[in-house]
Amino acid sequence: MSTITAKRARRPVPAQQQPARPPRVFTYARVSTKRQAKEDKASFERQERYARAYADKQGLVLDEDTRFEDRGVSGFHGDNVKEGGALKRFLDAFDAGDVIPNDVLIVESFDRLSRQEPIDANEHFERLVRGGVVIVMSGKDGGDGREFSRAALRRDDTLLIVAKLEQSRAYRESERKQQLSREGISGKCRRWLEGKRGFRVTGSRNDPDWVTWNEQENRFDFVPHMEQGVRRAIELYRAGNGTPEVARVLAHEGLALSEKWPVTYLQKTIRNPSLVGTRELTVAGEEFVLRDYYPAIIGADEFDELQALVDRRGLSRGRSESVAVVTGLGIARCAVCGSPLVGQQLKRRLANGKPIRRIRCSHVATKAARCSSKMGSCLSEVLEKIVMDFCSTQANLDAMFNVTHNDGRMAMLAERRTELARLERKIGEYEKRMDDEDDPLTQTERKKLRQFEADRDAAVDEITQLEREMKLHVKRRVSTAKQWRSLVKGVIDLDPTARQEARKLVANTFERIDVWFKGDSQQDAHMMAVRLTGRNGVERQVLLDRRNGDIIAIREYDDVEYTVTTKTGKATAEAA
Ligand SMILES: [Zn+2]
Repeated sequence: MSTITAKRARRPVPAQQQPARPPRVFTYARVSTKRQAKEDKASFERQERYARAYADKQGLVLDEDTRFEDRGVSGFHGDNVKEGGALKRFLDAFDAGDVIPNDVLIVESFDRLSRQEPIDANEHFERLVRGGVVIVMSGKDGGDGREFSRAALRRDDTLLIVAKLEQSRAYRESERKQQLSREGISGKCRRWLEGKRGFRVTGSRNDPDWVTWNEQENRFDFVPHMEQGVRRAIELYRAGNGTPEVARVLAHEGLALSEKWPVTYLQKTIRNPSLVGTRELTVAGEEFVLRDYYPAIIGADEFDELQALVDRRGLSRGRSESVAVVTGLGIARCAVCGSPLVGQQLKRRLANGKPIRRIRCSHVATKAARCSSKMGSCLSEVLEKIVMDFCSTQANLDAMFNVTHNDGRMAMLAERRTELARLERKIGEYEKRMDDEDDPLTQTERKKLRQFEADRDAAVDEITQLEREMKLHVKRRVSTAKQWRSLVKGVIDLDPTARQEARKLVANTFERIDVWFKGDSQQDAHMMAVRLTGRNGVERQVLLDRRNGDIIAIREYDDVEYTVTTKTGKATAEAA
């Protein structure tokens, strides 16, 4: 293979000795990738032609037997000067004296020799030049021809600077490229597929909410309450609930996954491959499937089963048919008998395919027949519409949120706390005497102590309850008329997400909704009345036309006269 090695065996001449042969011309070429073979071939041929022409011109012999070519060898990592590299073979030959002073090495450019850090790149370069080798740069288009040799450097010492600058440029180029590929998302994806771990492919925006990046451990961890919520959601969906129902149960259990669009969130989540820990992404048209990227919530089999279930059943439909907006919250009641109102969905549908939905007094619905209401039901849309319309006017809504009534909870809390302190003091006194031999508790006192303890426990429970209620009161989010208005259409169109959202607003705004399904006299037979009581205790009575759900009047509880407010009329128009 190498005639130089063969020569060396025959004739081991030290490098600095008198040359035993005329100088020769060698070529060294390197490409870092094995791709673009065609282009590389052309470049190698160009260099060959250059070398031949150079040798002819200088009257030297081109060494055509020994080829120093590195293909697919990185100059950045210095692989060409490591064992197996062609440049390493050339350096070895030089060390062995097979390459002698005034021998010429033709290279395309500095970056072919090395892309290592300049201090390392320069080492080999200087060693060859100092040893008398003439390095000639052929240039990419064969027009460079710069010569680096002891003699040339002696003539022009800026050449040394040129060399250093070239080495530096070569290194920076590679460094930047490497950084780009390392930082590039696709580069990271590839590294992941190669089995490397301990990094994330993209920023947090694209990761599911139930995981969080652990900076210390360089891995994803679960966000406990979110993980719990997702697990519960899957469980509920599998059990036959539609996403609206799942969202409702989660909210009830304090595991809500999304404040704003709980149903949409669930629908996306159930389809999300992140559930099994897989990250799917497309980078510049290239698709990546990164397995085990996140901690898995369910196994692959379970996920497949879940997808099959979704395909069969759809996401929205479960056993429940449409999200109730005003019923099922313990808020809406029959004004005549005080029973909760219940929603009903008839099997029969309207011509437009919408189900017929009614809201009725539960006593009427269950045929308990204790309710004396002349009419025990109305179309659900009617009640939903007036609640939505009412809240779509800011003035009405403000009344529901203004805290005008002191509900006395604060005073009660203070009183209970005083009482608790008194009981604990007493219990303390008695307990101190429990082990006192001189002054033991009498039978009566022991009995008293037990009573104090029971009272204390009751007081603690009451205080806890009051505090919880007040916290709820304070934490209650104030909604805006705009929010309500944005949901009106969705509520009427039975959009589960909008209805779920509206339901939350209803629960958040009202303490009670009392419904008179029918006016008392013949004259107002088409009228219906609804009393809306805010969570702050403020009441408003709404008179409406039960045939179309239009608001006729809104009056304050204490008002004697019906007041037809123009504001309300406007709100109705806006909402419609
Ligand atoms: Zn009733």
